[in-house]
Amino acid sequence: MNNLSKIIMYLFVFTTYCFGATSSSDIWKKGYTFLQFLESYGIPSSVYWNLYPEDKELTAEIYSGVRYYTLIDENNTLLQALIPLNDETQIHIFKDKEVYKVDFIPVKYFSSTNSIALSIQKSPYQDIVELIGDINLANEFINTYKNAIDFSKNIIKNDKLALIYNSKYRLGRSYGTPEIKASLIETNGKPNFLFAYSDGRRYDQNGNEITGLLLHTPVSNSRISSRFSLNRIHPILKVKRPHYGVDYAAPYGANVKAAAGGKVAFAGVKTGYGKVIEVVHENGLKTLYAHLSKIHTKKGQYVRTGQVIGKVGNSGLSTGPHLHFGLYKNNKPINPLSNIQSTKSVLAKEEKEEFLKIVKQYEEKLKLAIIDNLNSQPPSYFASN
Ligand SMILES: [Zn+2]
Repeated sequence: MNNLSKIIMYLFVFTTYCFGATSSSDIWKKGYTFLQFLESYGIPSSVYWNLYPEDKELTAEIYSGVRYYTLIDENNTLLQALIPLNDETQIHIFKDKEVYKVDFIPVKYFSSTNSIALSIQKSPYQDIVELIGDINLANEFINTYKNAIDFSKNIIKNDKLALIYNSKYRLGRSYGTPEIKASLIETNGKPNFLFAYSDGRRYDQNGNEITGLLLHTPVSNSRISSRFSLNRIHPILKVKRPHYGVDYAAPYGANVKAAAGGKVAFAGVKTGYGKVIEVVHENGLKTLYAHLSKIHTKKGQYVRTGQVIGKVGNSGLSTGPHLHFGLYKNNKPINPLSNIQSTKSVLAKEEKEEFLKIVKQYEEKLKLAIIDNLNSQPPSYFASN
């Protein structure tokens, strides 16, 4: 698949030189829909309406502010377009013998693991920005510790901070939000560690979960009819398709409740999702409730956990009534089911063994970052091994 997207990227550049076509990139405007995009190039809307329901759902995932790419010939005919849905997947529109086709392909990117260490002078946020100029990383760091540490009270000058994180680069530009794999911040000289685990949650060095939004099931008396998948096999086409949410089959008109408290960022109709509500929460998290029959809230309103915000329906789709429930972190879809729970998570025994091995490796990297970047001895709280 990576090769495929590489070929497509080469085709983009190649066609530019050979056929006088022009490639350009632009930012997806707020409120702009996939249908409007097709219309603007004179592409028949049947291209959209003939998509499978799952694929219509995916076109609703395009978010404002994302950079997309087009290739146009001298008659202003669209030859190809690449529109990212998130850091991983993009829509590929292309002309095949006078017929437009829509496909979903991986985003080709290069990723690298980086580390930084500093001793705090102004604030964790300002010092990270001043050191490497990455506002996204600084924000992500603050979000990570938001529920665990009050930065305004507990940090003293020269407390140490160290981070191991992954960054993504596409066509020479960094994009997406850096993923923090391990971090350390001292408060009054005492260490506070956080380690990311493969379940998408963060734990301290003993495997106790530190932060995390606890979600409530958004619809009662329902059954899960389709699970979250980063690339689900399409039931008919047999090709891989992601499913960025959980589908709850429930009676038409059943109450849909906010899975957590937050502010309504969108309440209205989106092609592919029908009537849909989006609620933003702390830590860059967002929940999405789609295919509703009724909306009982407005953009800008604050909603409580469990508050009824709409009713189950089947708007935007031809299949039976269900709630499509999505969870996003910095626009990246994550599995809602691994975040629905009633108590903080503690790792099970086998998981914990695996986790502790990872912790050991990351502790070593954090220690090296401090030694290399701060020219200092390793702090004594690192286990001597
Ligand atoms: Zn769905």
